[in-house]
Amino acid sequence: MLKKLRLSFILLLCAVPVFAQQIQSPSEFLGYKLGSQFTPHARIADYFKYVAGISKNVKLQQYGITNEHRPLMVMFIASDENINRLPEIRQHNLSLAGQGDNNSVLKNAPVIVWLSYNVHGNEPSSSEASMQALFDMVDPANSRTKFWLTNTVVVIDPCLNPDGRERYVNFYRSVVGAIPDADPSAREHNEPWPSGRVNHYYYDLNRDWAWQTQKETKARVALFNQWLPQIHVDFHEQGYNSPYYFAPAAEPFHRDITAWQKEFQTIIGKNNAKYFDQNGWMYYTKEEYDLLYPSYGDTYPIYNGSIGMTYEQGGIGAGLAIATHSGDTLTLADRITHHLSNSLSTIETASANGGKALEEFKKYFDNSRTNPPGDYKSYVIKNDNQDKINLLGDMLSRNGIKYSFGLKAKSSGFDYVTGKTEEFEIDEKDMVVNAYQSKAVLLNVLLEPKTFVADSNTYDITAWALPYAYGLKAYGIKEALKTGNASAGITRSLHANTEHAYAYISPWKSNYDVKFLAELLRSKIKVRYAERPFEAGGKMFAAGSLIITKAGNNENFDNIVKKAAADCNRELTLLSSGFVDKGVDLGSHAIRFIRAPRVLLVSGDGVSAEAMGEIWFYFEKEINYPVTIIRYKDINRIKWNDFDVAIFPDGYYDDMPADKLQNWVHDGGKLIAMQNTISLLTDKKGFSIKAVKDDKSDTTKDRSDLVKTYADRDHESIRSNVPGAIYKLDIDNTHPLGYGLDKYYFDLKLDDDLYKYLDGDGWNVGTVKKSGYVAGFVGQKAKEKIKNGLLFGVQSWGRGSVVYMVDDPLFRSFWENGKLLFGNAVFMVGQ
Ligand SMILES: [Zn+2]
Repeated sequence: MLKKLRLSFILLLCAVPVFAQQIQSPSEFLGYKLGSQFTPHARIADYFKYVAGISKNVKLQQYGITNEHRPLMVMFIASDENINRLPEIRQHNLSLAGQGDNNSVLKNAPVIVWLSYNVHGNEPSSSEASMQALFDMVDPANSRTKFWLTNTVVVIDPCLNPDGRERYVNFYRSVVGAIPDADPSAREHNEPWPSGRVNHYYYDLNRDWAWQTQKETKARVALFNQWLPQIHVDFHEQGYNSPYYFAPAAEPFHRDITAWQKEFQTIIGKNNAKYFDQNGWMYYTKEEYDLLYPSYGDTYPIYNGSIGMTYEQGGIGAGLAIATHSGDTLTLADRITHHLSNSLSTIETASANGGKALEEFKKYFDNSRTNPPGDYKSYVIKNDNQDKINLLGDMLSRNGIKYSFGLKAKSSGFDYVTGKTEEFEIDEKDMVVNAYQSKAVLLNVLLEPKTFVADSNTYDITAWALPYAYGLKAYGIKEALKTGNASAGITRSLHANTEHAYAYISPWKSNYDVKFLAELLRSKIKVRYAERPFEAGGKMFAAGSLIITKAGNNENFDNIVKKAAADCNRELTLLSSGFVDKGVDLGSHAIRFIRAPRVLLVSGDGVSAEAMGEIWFYFEKEINYPVTIIRYKDINRIKWNDFDVAIFPDGYYDDMPADKLQNWVHDGGKLIAMQNTISLLTDKKGFSIKAVKDDKSDTTKDRSDLVKTYADRDHESIRSNVPGAIYKLDIDNTHPLGYGLDKYYFDLKLDDDLYKYLDGDGWNVGTVKKSGYVAGFVGQKAKEKIKNGLLFGVQSWGRGSVVYMVDDPLFRSFWENGKLLFGNAVFMVGQ
């Protein structure tokens, strides 16, 4: 018996090399049937590594790492012929897009299909499907997929948001019982705060493609732009009572989307539908998911010449099984099957139309270079602020948009600030961007002052023009401009010489200055700011300028200040005397001491995770300053005296501890109340903020507007809607909250909230007047409401203050100019 066993064991060993030719399916590799449990990210990565080790038709590339140190990776899948010439294929593809070597010749160039799975972590079925899609593409026994690979290269990114996915999967695995509970009210279907949708810092990565504020996006978009696929799919899940959504997409479409891009979406959609029809699966197209905002996984590829699409399986919160409202049980296995079907169907369609797809891809970029879209063929961005020009230049470069600098000349064009055509002078340091380039479409989408919105029933913000977001003066010009030195306007690394100083002065003009201040305060350097402008050392310094004196600081202070200046790329002015040329001397009482604030940030249930995450990211990654994060449920247990600043992000807080906050503010605390938090303070004693209401309650008026048509209800509901529009605010930049800003500020307005002007002890720093509207969709009712009111203000109260921020200056971290406004609230107000 023993002998026999041994023999069969040896036989088995001998058989291994034969089996090794075969590739294990995900179920075989993982040891459980795919869909019977959620696969941790590390195991997904293991499977991809396993296939990379065994299949000759793949190349695995790690392109980045997440905040929680998980790998970001893509798998390239290609035929025997193509897999060894991926660098040539990439070069040739870029040459079709008018980039790199335009003479690159490649026989039988393949079409490139890029499949992106699981950008929202709690929409987890697609990462499971990605393993099966990979297997089906490399399975030697699969002649269908082998045939598709003859003219197609497939790129699979199994998980765009590993940290968010892992948050969800860990949660689910920790609460599901031996038998999954399909009852929707069971705890396994209700995630705790924060959900797995977002990344480590609670950013929605499907709103970040164009801005690349997050490291996952930065790494992915860099790789994406090295390849520029013809087809890109972003796999999602929607509510579990919805069936499946796939392209063609819904209105509104951006005007720059071409007829071919729409047509090919329909071709792909019809092929997807064929399989759904065969299997009797429910689906819909042409509704809900529009193509406008440029930072999605469908639009960003579209504005880069691709056929970008979103696919949505019903399934958020569904776990392994859930009872839907129609009485069916939706399982993880079902969701995987549908995503897999569309993965393969899309590759099939791409392969069947490969030649045409490549031809249209080339045409798209040829057109961009010779006949760019949009009203303006060039843009001039005035270099009034070197930091912001540097930031904008970096952002354009990351997106492959080329820019240069000006030749001294006079010109005329659309003035972003006044909204009129004006004459202006171009300086050699002004940024000039010509539209005649291969990224002309993306350029137009990002820079055009007003986005045309045919149908306002959109999913996201409708205005984002970069000059407004960066707070830079700009002009749109109807013809191309000649440019000068390509690096004339990029100035970096200017810091002070090695002399010893009585004081150093540094201007206060951008968030880099906030970062510099943060580093000084962390290093225990005493810093002051000027309440009024002054002139010293032959230079003018505006209110808010930082003053760092030898007095009060230790002997090592020169070195610390210079190092901080070098770290933050600051130009210091060295003064050898406290006697200034004009204005107040450095010892004056108008030079205020900045106490290093101890900051508290509220998080947890009731708080908007994304709004809170932006603030967390700001402190940790953008200015590197400590912040203590507490859960709101613990608010009554904290020692208020340990904190100088308390930040309440957007949220719905039960029982605001108004009495405690009042006492603490009275004693010198600073409360920063943001967005909806303000509405919870309007009726609390001592808070002087009052909302502007629309006039719904006026019963004496003719109320025939109440008579609505039921079929138009979607459009009715948007009359009060502000999906994201730009307003020009008046700024009192003599107030610390306005330091470093112009006399105006372009505000991204996300709702119709507006407050009455503060009186008495209040300062109305950012106000919207009658004609503040600039760009983006605003419903008629909201438009009537948003005028003559307060959006950013400060109430001085006892020894402390309350900062009211009705809108979010840190929205998705791409509204660069808002960061200085927020920095003012934290460091300057109330000192
Ligand atoms: Zn999603």
